[in-house]
Amino acid sequence: MDFRKGPKSPGRTRFFTVCAILALALAFLFYIAVSGGSAEVERETFAMGTLVKVSVYGRGEASLTSAAEAALAEISRLEELFSVNIAGSDISRINADPAKPGGHEVSAETYELLRLALSEAEATGGAFDPTIGALVSFWGIGTEKARIPSAADNDDIADMQSVVGWSKVSLREASAEGGEERTVYFVSAGAGQALDLGGVAKGYAADRVAAILRARGVKSALVDIGGNLVAIGRSPKRREWRLGFQDPFRPRGNYFASVSVSDATIVTSGAYERFVRKNGVLYHHILDPETGYPAMSDLESVSIVMEHTGSRHNSARSDALSTALFVMGFERAVKFLEGHGEVQAVLVSRREDGPAVYVTDGLKQRVAVQEDVFPKAKEVGR
Ligand code: AMP
Ligand code: MG
Repeated sequence: MDFRKGPKSPGRTRFFTVCAILALALAFLFYIAVSGGSAEVERETFAMGTLVKVSVYGRGEASLTSAAEAALAEISRLEELFSVNIAGSDISRINADPAKPGGHEVSAETYELLRLALSEAEATGGAFDPTIGALVSFWGIGTEKARIPSAADNDDIADMQSVVGWSKVSLREASAEGGEERTVYFVSAGAGQALDLGGVAKGYAADRVAAILRARGVKSALVDIGGNLVAIGRSPKRREWRLGFQDPFRPRGNYFASVSVSDATIVTSGAYERFVRKNGVLYHHILDPETGYPAMSDLESVSIVMEHTGSRHNSARSDALSTALFVMGFERAVKFLEGHGEVQAVLVSRREDGPAVYVTDGLKQRVAVQEDVFPKAKEVGR
């Protein structure tokens, strides 16, 4: 029988219906695979003295929402441990009695962050120094109590500067008493010292948040803690993230260059972030531990880029280094970078003939400097 002309059999109709349903299901699955069935959840808050934004992308809005909320909760939890402005935080307790015999018991996180801060202080020859707390609160830059010192303050500044010194901080761990299998952590500092982790805590928090998001299966996210960025995986468009470097001469959100990365952290320090200006002098928040005054840096900004190569502390380290390299100024910063090939950076320096942009070799292929932003910018570098 020529079935093409014959009457339709119920079996054939069912066969074609099943095929059509399967085709539709396949098309739907293909659409989900291509579009990611994509959801996007963004959460913003103000914490650690700055704007925090967590954006997570993927499937399942409910699980993305709970991941983003867990991220914000973690940042608040860490702020309670590290902040100098919260009475009873680990750091406030140390600062209230820095040289307490035997030290203060602190959380494992505070201990870990201090250990990292001390190690970066040593690596940067003290350009980054977490014992700079008394000077940070004296200057108060970025708070309502920002101070423009008079000549009469010079002696006080010299006194506060004389007690700065990371090597006086001591860390000790011990087994908990009473048969518990638990380690307890103790910290003490030098007499008259005050700790301040403002130059490294945002990076530490960004690392922790990234770890939490990854552990929850998030494959694509952007964490921004006041300009300390961590990019997880690839962008929701399944390409590398294209992230901007803040233009130090224009308001936040204006960029002079961009970099394409996946799984990376980008941390920027610049005088423009927090400052007061008086009689033409700019007093900013990054202090030189050797003078006690805002660093007289010839740099406008320092951005550190580290890819996720297994270290849990890339953003914290980048945070400490961005602050330190800013203090060092262009020449010392470039020498440091030449000796640390694992650290990639973009520096904007101020020169008589205009700004110059320095990009380390490892980034040259991936950083695009916008010529229209710095028309006269010279690219310098190795
Ligand atoms: P950042 O914004 O990461 O560059 O860090 C600046 C913050 O770190 C300041 O607001 C202070 O809390 C603190 N700070 C300032 N100067 C130093 C320094 N030389 N070493 C360590 N921390 C610093
Ligand atoms: Mg920093």
